[in-house]
Amino acid sequence: MLQDRLDIISSKGFMPESKFGQNFLCDEEIISNIVDLCEIGKDDKVLEIGPGLGSISFPISELTDDFTVVEIDKRLASFLKDELGLKANVISSDFLKLSDYGADKMNVVVSNLPYYVMTDIMKKLFDECGNARKMVFMVEKDALARIMAKPETKQYGPLSVLVSLYGEARHEFDVPRNCFIPAPNTTSCVISLTNGGTDIPKGFVKFINRAFAMRRKKLVNNIKEAGEVLESIGLPLNVRAEQIEPSKFIELYNAIIDRSVKA
Ligand code: SAM
Repeated sequence: MLQDRLDIISSKGFMPESKFGQNFLCDEEIISNIVDLCEIGKDDKVLEIGPGLGSISFPISELTDDFTVVEIDKRLASFLKDELGLKANVISSDFLKLSDYGADKMNVVVSNLPYYVMTDIMKKLFDECGNARKMVFMVEKDALARIMAKPETKQYGPLSVLVSLYGEARHEFDVPRNCFIPAPNTTSCVISLTNGGTDIPKGFVKFINRAFAMRRKKLVNNIKEAGEVLESIGLPLNVRAEQIEPSKFIELYNAIIDRSVKA
C-alpha cells in the first residue's frame, strides 16, 4: 500500500517534492484500471517514467520480467531498488537526459506524468519509443484539448500532431485530486494511445517543433526548405502549420529529406 511505503520513507526524512511533480497515486481502483489498460503480456518490454513510490510499478512488475523504470529523484530510486526490492531495472536519472535505455525495444510505455515536463517527456517518447504497441499516460485534464486537438484550432500543435500520427488516442477516465498524496491542484485524466503503424521518422519531432515555432507565420518562415517542396505535395506556399493535417506533415518531412539527399 502506498501509505505504508510513504510512512517508511517519511521516517527517513523524505518529503514529496513539488519541483519534481510528486503526487503519488493512492487509489487502488485507479491503479488497477491503469495497469489493465497497458495490456501487458509476459514477454513485453515495459517502460515506466517516474515510478515514484511504485504505485503502478509493483503491479506491473508481476506481469512482465522485462521492466525498466526511470526516476529523477535519487532517494526514490534507491528506496524502490534497495529497500523495497522492486523487480525492475531501476534507472536513477532525469529521463529527458537519458539516452541508453533500450528505447527501440519497448512494447509498452506508461507514466503518471510529472506535469511540469509532461510535453517534453511525451515528445521524447514519440521520438524514441515510437514502435511501442501501447502508451498509457496520466495527464493534467487541462492539457487534454491540446493533446487531442485537430488542425485549424488554437490548441493544435506539435503534441497533437505526434499523438495523432502515433495512432488511436482515447480519453479513458478522469482522476479526482483526492486519489493522490499530496493532492495536485488540478483534476487529472488517463489517456491510452494505441499504435496505428505510422512510422514517426527520426528527426521528425525536431522538425514539427520548428514548424510551429511562430504559429501565426507562414510555414516557410519557420522552415525555409519547405518552400521548395510544398507545391509538389499539394500545399500552397502561404500555408501555416496549424492548417496542415498530421499525415501531410510526414509527407512534407520526407519530401524535404528526399530533396536534400538528391541535392
Ligand atoms: N508513478 C508514481 C505514481 O503514480 O504514484 C509517481 C507519479 S508522480 C506524478 C511523477 C514522478 O515522476 C515522481 O516520482 C517524480 O520524481 C518523477 N519525475 C519527475 N521528473 C522526472 C524526470 N525528468 N525524469 C524521470 N522522473 C521524473
